Amino acid sequence: MLIFGPVTSRRLGQSLGINHIPAKTCSYACVYCQLGRTYPMQVKRESFFSPEEIDRELTQRLRQLRETNEPVDWVTFVPSGEPTLDLCLKKEIENTKAHGLKVAVISNSSLMGMEEVRDALMEADWVSLKVDAGNDSMWRKVNRPYGSLNYEEMLKGIVTFSRRYRGILVTESMLIKGMNDNESEIADITRALSSIRPKKSYLMVPTRPPAESGVERPNAETLGQIVKQVRGVCPHEIECITGDENEERVFVTDAVVYDILAITSVHPVRESTLRLLLERKRVDFSLIEELVAQKKLLSFFYGGTTFYRRNLE
Ligand code: SF4
Repeated sequence: MLIFGPVTSRRLGQSLGINHIPAKTCSYACVYCQLGRTYPMQVKRESFFSPEEIDRELTQRLRQLRETNEPVDWVTFVPSGEPTLDLCLKKEIENTKAHGLKVAVISNSSLMGMEEVRDALMEADWVSLKVDAGNDSMWRKVNRPYGSLNYEEMLKGIVTFSRRYRGILVTESMLIKGMNDNESEIADITRALSSIRPKKSYLMVPTRPPAESGVERPNAETLGQIVKQVRGVCPHEIECITGDENEERVFVTDAVVYDILAITSVHPVRESTLRLLLERKRVDFSLIEELVAQKKLLSFFYGGTTFYRRNLE
């Protein structure tokens, strides 16, 4: 299940996903993680799947998509963990680009202090880096990084990357009520964003069931003040995303169960989205109930909505 989608993404259009990291293999344990808690955490880069295996699955999926005239704008490395932990990331990006496709990578930034990680990301056309905190202590509260990681080293690495990178660099900052949403924390995040100088910074809020209970989005008034504060300092474009990306256009083949488990491995999907998707395939919703009974899917209730996520344990 290395390839999923394409999914309609607000930022990238029709994006085919590559999940090239074993479930929940991450250097962070973010309080808002939609995949649950990270066990165990790691910072050692490894080769998890062979680049050839990933390319074989990608080639097969692209063939299916061509047969059904399904467009693909981007291929995104957005696994159920941190993509830069993959030692073969550079090779995998090169292989993907050889198909004539644009490549995006969504990283948590934690390993940006490493030259080989920056070097691998140089190959991508679009890179998104996480900046949820502008200082070490908030970073440890929100992202709960692996012990040996260092905030200053990471930020220095991001700035170094930004100065050399020729593709599109964006940042994303998750705002959490009562944690990093006050004026002083936002001033620190803004300082970090100004030093990075990305093309665009996305301010986000939790929209799916988080790893820790009590993680909530700031209220609308606070969000408005935050956007004003950040825009007042940063010369680059700032966009606040308060809803989910449009996931109604998730593409599934006739291998419905396989595709549903692939997409729910990387993020929880709303019940309404799954209903639409099954309707298109003329499959009854009881399929989802069966997958829950078999413990292949887990259901969560968050923000008044039921979500389903693959059981990653
Ligand atoms: S949100 Fe991303 S970076 Fe944070 S723990 Fe989850 S997978 Fe890792």
